Amino acid sequence: MFPVVAAGQTEVPGSASQTDGGVRAPHRARRGSPRTIPDMQESLPDTEGIERVLIVVAHPDDCDFGCAATTARWTDAGLEVSYCIVTDGQAGGSDRSIGRQRMGQIRRVEQTAAAKVVGVTDLTFLGYPDGELSVTHELRRDISRVIRQKRPDRVVSQSPERSWSRLFASHPDHLAAAEAAICAVYPDSRNPFAHLELLEHEGLEPHTVRELWMMGSPERVNVWTDVTATADRKLEALRCHRSQYQEWEPLEQRVRAWLRSAAEGAGLGEGASAEAFYRVSTG
Ligand SMILES: [Zn+2]
Repeated sequence: MFPVVAAGQTEVPGSASQTDGGVRAPHRARRGSPRTIPDMQESLPDTEGIERVLIVVAHPDDCDFGCAATTARWTDAGLEVSYCIVTDGQAGGSDRSIGRQRMGQIRRVEQTAAAKVVGVTDLTFLGYPDGELSVTHELRRDISRVIRQKRPDRVVSQSPERSWSRLFASHPDHLAAAEAAICAVYPDSRNPFAHLELLEHEGLEPHTVRELWMMGSPERVNVWTDVTATADRKLEALRCHRSQYQEWEPLEQRVRAWLRSAAEGAGLGEGASAEAFYRVSTG
């Protein structure tokens, strides 16, 4: 059994973001289906009734670490997936000879190439400075604008919760971008009187997002996607971020271990890969 720690929360030590341990699922998942915890949420195919998905993250490469294999799975199934990248990642990399503005330009190009690998060609860069994000009215408005423009059925975000076991995953920009994205999902993008200029000056009608999927959610997971067929494309997408990673082999091994660990948590068979999320109904 899963160690349920509170109503509506399930602790999963072997989530996608961890390489140690793992949790046996009570039943074997059917290959190719998303896995959910039976007593937490109904098990629905992750593409059924979904036409558009918007992924909101703080930095270039965040969506590739978090959910690129799932993105490939979704675009292969015909879903329209768009990215909203909040900062240009100017504070990334270790090469001090590259100016920070130039680094931001490089990272937009890298992210655009990585997106293409997993079938995404619609990217919005909000252009906020890397390392300086906070949950401001302006950030909530700018993400709400993208939601109203793209009108997604599902928004994928990072987690606004700090992970004490993996502090590097809880970059302050991640926490802020996630919190702002969740505020944009509810209530801002659906409330006609929130960010009134979006409606009155830009003609953007309110939009209700039906569900939110958080990736890298530290201590809670309630859905896994079987990405065995698309794991290699996740790695290929990550390779596009050349300005950030000099040693590729250790990184690839680490990412593949995450995917295997998540598959183990999902109860998938040997050799399987999975990505893990916390899904919330927001309709
Ligand atoms: Zn990041």
